[in-house]
Amino acid sequence: MRLKPSKSKWLSYNTWVCQNHYPAVRLTEAACNCYMLGCGSVRPTEAAPEKPAEPDPVLVFIQPVATGPQCTWDSCTETARPNSKYCSRKCSNKNARRRHRARKATQPHHAA
Ligand SMILES: [Zn+2]
Ligand SMILES: [Zn+2]
Repeated sequence: MRLKPSKSKWLSYNTWVCQNHYPAVRLTEAACNCYMLGCGSVRPTEAAPEKPAEPDPVLVFIQPVATGPQCTWDSCTETARPNSKYCSRKCSNKNARRRHRARKATQPHHAA
């Protein structure tokens, strides 16, 4: 049985692919040839691409834990939802009711 000709190329500095298959078989730099049966692909003869430089640790942005500002409702300790001052509809409603009551309280009372 004739082996398929080598159709390999570097994917990154430590990975190469054998394109005799679909999807292409990925192999590590340490592998000298494709592990697929009947495939004659060998590690690309050209030199592997340069290993990318390690990112500067100072520039690596550490994603903060997904915590936003706290819910605006006083007695609520939940985290507010994105694009909202409240954690939920419930708190937003509570706050609306309180504002409504406060408005009523400041209105002058009619003499009895
Ligand atoms: Zn192969
Ligand atoms: Zn809340």
